[in-house]
Amino acid sequence: MSKYHLVLGLEIHFHLRTKKKVFCGCIANFYGAKPNTHVCPTCLGLPGALPVANFEAVEKAQILGLALNCKLNEFSRFDRKHYFYPDLPKGYQISQYLYPLCLDGFVELENGKKCELERIHLEEDTAKSIHRSGETLIDYNKSGSPLVEIVTKPIFESASEAVEFAKKIQDVVRTLDIADVDMEKGQLRLEANISVRTTEMKEKGILPDYKVEVKNINSFRFLEKAINYEIERQSEILEKGERVPQENRGFNEVKNITVSQRKKEEVKDYRYFPDPDLPPMFFDKKHFEDLRKNLPELPRQTYEKLKSKYSLNDNQAKFLSNGDGLLLVEKFYSLAEKSDPIKVANLLINKPETRELSNDDFLSQIKAFAVSEISEERLNEAVETVLRNETDAFEKLRSGKDQVLMYLVGQVMRELKTKADTTKIISIIKSKLN
Ligand code: ZN
Ligand code: MN
Repeated sequence: MSKYHLVLGLEIHFHLRTKKKVFCGCIANFYGAKPNTHVCPTCLGLPGALPVANFEAVEKAQILGLALNCKLNEFSRFDRKHYFYPDLPKGYQISQYLYPLCLDGFVELENGKKCELERIHLEEDTAKSIHRSGETLIDYNKSGSPLVEIVTKPIFESASEAVEFAKKIQDVVRTLDIADVDMEKGQLRLEANISVRTTEMKEKGILPDYKVEVKNINSFRFLEKAINYEIERQSEILEKGERVPQENRGFNEVKNITVSQRKKEEVKDYRYFPDPDLPPMFFDKKHFEDLRKNLPELPRQTYEKLKSKYSLNDNQAKFLSNGDGLLLVEKFYSLAEKSDPIKVANLLINKPETRELSNDDFLSQIKAFAVSEISEERLNEAVETVLRNETDAFEKLRSGKDQVLMYLVGQVMRELKTKADTTKIISIIKSKLN
């Protein structure tokens, strides 16, 4: 149903890595600790306990803002966001509403699209509910953990754009070393605000008057599935001439569908107001300049540098400036001082077993592993021959079974009777998929 176009904004939550929780003195690292051992009157929400803002958390949120091209607010404050839930003992969450730490900002995708942010704010996490045979137990260790929330504008036009964006955020956070953002440990949570609109609305720049919020998505794959499922579901409702209800939904990981959870609160239901227990914060320009001076090289800069300073090709530069490839960059830089950068990159990318070698051993490997220069045409020919012979494997790849990719790469090398640049072969194979 291509009549309807996706309108999508993301909210990304993750825990900052700080020594203490965000408004009290409890040690923030509670992983593996017994339930309710990292607690105090403040994070238990007891009457009379007073919060104090953790400057380490504030600063790390601001560093993130700088890295994501945000404007940092010189005046910022905390607000109370009210809702009633067992894992929120005070009946409100300390968050930020009108004056978040960071405003605007953007992340650039590979295709050059600038995905704009609305804000980045700091808030406290809730406790953890454990549902067990009709009872709910609460572990307050997580209560008051420093949580950063990144909110984007409704700028994504496809699920894959959203996934690429979220991965880039993860890369930046890891480069800044301010959080672990391990999705498997639930340290990065995604929420998608999804609606669809007609071509006419899109042309006129009209946004839909509803949105469906899919909460607590904890993998990139589920994010993609949830979005695509919602596009279908909402298009069908609109097609019948009905209205899509504004609600929260959850993603069912077994059935690959989203399910209704509750009617979504409106902003007014939260009764936001400034938290009178926390003084407003003022920052001077010098503070922002100091933070900016200490920013590390960011993935986007790494990518540019690999191409301009080291003359790597686009695939190599992308490999070393995205995801796990970023873990190899320091090694690449030090080896590239002593040898041909292109050969170093080839070996690091194509021969994973060399990544653990000492620099000296690595350099002697380079001599042994001379990837012969093979022309694009020759590579293309070899890929086509293999794809003609390997129709089954190719069909599997087409239906999303990525495991056969390396098998096909191996067949191409066999066809070439030599080793060749794996990333190049992969990109040629992928180009044949369309
Ligand atoms: Zn505490
Ligand atoms: Mn939040």
